[in-house]
Parts: sequence; structure tokens; C-alpha cells
Amino acid sequence: MLTLPDVKVYDTLVVGMGPAGATAAYQLSKAGLSVLGLDKATHPRYKVCGGGLSARIDHILEEDYKSVVEHTVYGIQFSYRGTDPFCLDSSSPIAYMVMRDRFDHFLLEKARRVGSEVHESESVTSCRQLPDGIEVTTDRGRYFAKVLIGADGANSLVAQQLFPGRRSRRMATLESEIPIGAVPHYPGAGRALIDIGATPAGYAWIFPKQERLSVGVGDLRGGLASPKRIFDQFVRDEKGLAPWKVPQPVGHPLPVFSEDSLAKGDRESVGLVSGQALLVGDAAHLIDPLFGEGIYYAVRSGQLAAESILSQAHDRRRSLADYEGAVRREIYEEFRVAARMASIVYSYPRLCHRLLSRYQNIVKLYYDVLIGRETYQTFYVRAKGMAKASAKELLLEAMSFR
Ligand SMILES: Cc1cc2nc3c(=O)[nH]c(=O)nc-3n(C[C@H](O)[C@H](O)[C@H](O)COP(=O)(O)OP(=O)(O)OC[C@H]3O[C@@H](n4cnc5c(N)ncnc54)[C@H](O)[C@@H]3O)c2cc1C
Repeated sequence: MLTLPDVKVYDTLVVGMGPAGATAAYQLSKAGLSVLGLDKATHPRYKVCGGGLSARIDHILEEDYKSVVEHTVYGIQFSYRGTDPFCLDSSSPIAYMVMRDRFDHFLLEKARRVGSEVHESESVTSCRQLPDGIEVTTDRGRYFAKVLIGADGANSLVAQQLFPGRRSRRMATLESEIPIGAVPHYPGAGRALIDIGATPAGYAWIFPKQERLSVGVGDLRGGLASPKRIFDQFVRDEKGLAPWKVPQPVGHPLPVFSEDSLAKGDRESVGLVSGQALLVGDAAHLIDPLFGEGIYYAVRSGQLAAESILSQAHDRRRSLADYEGAVRREIYEEFRVAARMASIVYSYPRLCHRLLSRYQNIVKLYYDVLIGRETYQTFYVRAKGMAKASAKELLLEAMSFR
């Protein structure tokens, strides 16, 4: 293993201390490894994000994160281009809303408390594989580590430098935060709003926070030709937003999972490990192709990467490639089904909206995915059965009108 006289060699160096990096750093420090986390920003920092956590995050995060939850969501108002709204509520929480400055800062400080050394306002400028480790250069210095985790988000420098050739589908998004100075009652206490059809192949959202509404539009399949026009249109159509002045939205790319971005010619090699470097979170394009959820997968991939690094630290016969296998089994299988669902929903948004408003048991089943009682894979099988039964019902209804 890498040894350099008179130079500290960290067990792991984490580039980027968003949810993916901070979670990995926390797990590794807690297990006794030496960890250096570098972030170019000073936390708490603003991050363009809806901040919606599906409630299944409860299965992977310790309870204390609830201290930064701003709003608990029990139901969703669905609409189609501002029309035909319907709401469906659940008896248990389906999502938690956070502001990313507070949430990410909370995770970073948690890692620090268990021993991670964290340097903020320090930008990584290059990284290089050594025969048995990694060298990282920043705007302030040079560091060495046995393993590197690239957790530096959608525009990952680690991915560009150590994983050349990785392709991604980067979707356009725009978001604005409306300060309303009071507990949000719109779209209804304990509710979020999703408008499928507001964008050509994605959706628009209103996510309530403590004293503001996060409003945004995102595309999940093609490119938004004119995101600003679509955003303005959504704000105009959405009558509930009329009382407020909506600040200019900010854009950020969404590196959505796509089968095409996997290593060419070898679908099994997902390209998340190269030598002693691993990619997690947005840097690994772990964004759900149905609704663009990324925070859950950032946290989970950070944990899976940490598990793999720890098992290699304890047993040299183990390989970091175990991490790729875990992502393939736990995340990619889910994303494949989500991609299939996305292609149906975003090809026929109006029809899907109508069907869902009529057959709300399918929406309830989807809530079970958010809560973690179902996976996308089990949902798909059961929803297909429900859809077939519904189609039969519709057909019989149509025939009785003859
Ligand atoms: C408009 C929009 C809305 C979204 N809404 C949701 C949502 O409601 N729910 C959801 O689950 N997901 C949502 N997402 C996705 C979510 O924001 C990401 O999946 C999530 O932030 C990924 O976390 P991460 O830790 O991988 O990366 P990030 O959160 O991007 O963190 C990366 C960190 O790396 C640091 N960094 C970058 N480059 C360097 C460098 N060279 N040197 C040092 N540090 C560096 C950055 O400062 C940053 O702190 C949304 C995304 C967008 C764009």
C-alpha cells in the first residue's frame, strides 16, 4: 500500500461534501479510518434542489436528520398543465422537505464530529492515480490517499479526470425559492404539487418548506428547448402562485441515469470504480429517471462505497469492484424499471394523469415505493396487473354505452 515518507497518507479522501460525500466520510470515520473531505464551497451553502426526500430515507439515515426537516408531506396534488387537479393523501408521511444548505451542513458536521477532517473553500484542481493510491491537488495544497471518493456532483472533476469516456444524460432544470414568510398552506397543508405535462417530458413541482415554496421545472427525457419559457408558463398557469412574486429561477444540470451511459459493449461494467477511485451520487449519475430523485441515491451510494472500502481495508483480497456490484443490484435494477415507467408517463402524460386520477389505488401503491414498502420492481408488476384490470373495466364501460 501507498507509503510516502514524511507525508500523511489518508485512508480515504472525499472530494465534495454534499450528501454522498458527507455520508461516506461519516461511515468511514466512524469505523476508524482516517478521512479527509474537501469541498470548494463554505457550508452551509445554497444548492439548487427541490429538497424532497422520499420517506424511505428513514431506512438509511439515523433519526437525528429530522432536526433539519422543514415540512412533512402526506399527500400530493397532481395536475396536468395546471388543469384537472386531484389530491391523494396518505395516513403516513410519504416525503420530507429540506433546504439543502441546512441538510448538507448537518451531514457534514456529523462527519466532522466522528473524526473526518474537513476543509471547506478548498477546490480540487486535479487528481492522479498512483500505482497504489491517489494524489490530489487543490488550490491550497497536495494530498495523498489510499482511496479517493469522487462525490463532487453533476460536473464532477474526478469523473472527468479519472473516468474519461463516461457519458451522461444531463437534463435541464430551473428552480426558484419563493419566500412567503409563513407556514405554506399551498398546495395544502402537508402536500406537495406535481404537474406532469407542464414540461414536454418531465414535470413541474411546488415543494413546501418552512417559510417558502420551492418551485421548479425539469425534463427527464429530452432537452428543454426553452426552460425559462416553460418555467414562466407554469408559474402563470398555477393560480395558487398568483399572490407571490417569483424570484428569477436558477438552473443546474440533472445527470439522469440512462442505460446508454453505461460502459459501451459491456453492460455489466458500470464504470464506477477505476483503480483506487470510486464515484458516488451525482458524479456517478445516480438520478432516478422517473422523478429525478437523487438525494436518496447519493446517501445510499455513499454508504455502499464506504462498505466496500471498509471491507477492503479489513481484507486485502476484497476488491473495490464490490461497490459496482452493489450499485448494480440495489440501484441500477430499480432505475431500469423507473426508466420504463418514465417512457410511458412522459410519452402519454395526459392519458396517465387521467388514469391516475381515476385509479388512485395505483398512486397509493406508488406512495408505498416512496415509503419503502415496495420497490420500483414490485410496483411495476403489481401496477401492470391493476392497469390491465382497469383497462378491462373501461372497455366494459365503453361497450355498455353502445
Ligand atoms: C433543480 C433540481 C431539483 C432537484 N430536486 C431534488 C429533489 O427534490 N429530491 C432529490 O432527491 N433530488 C433532487 N435533485 C437532485 C439532487 O440535488 C442531487 O441528486 C444531489 O444533490 C446529489 O448529491 P451529491 O452529494 O452527489 O452532489 P452535490 O449535492 O452536488 O454535492 C457536490 C459537492 O461537491 C463540491 N464540489 C464540486 N466540485 C468540487 C471540486 N472541484 N473540489 C471540491 N469540491 C467540489 C460542491 O461544492 C458540492 O458541495 C434535484 C436536482 C436539481 C438540479
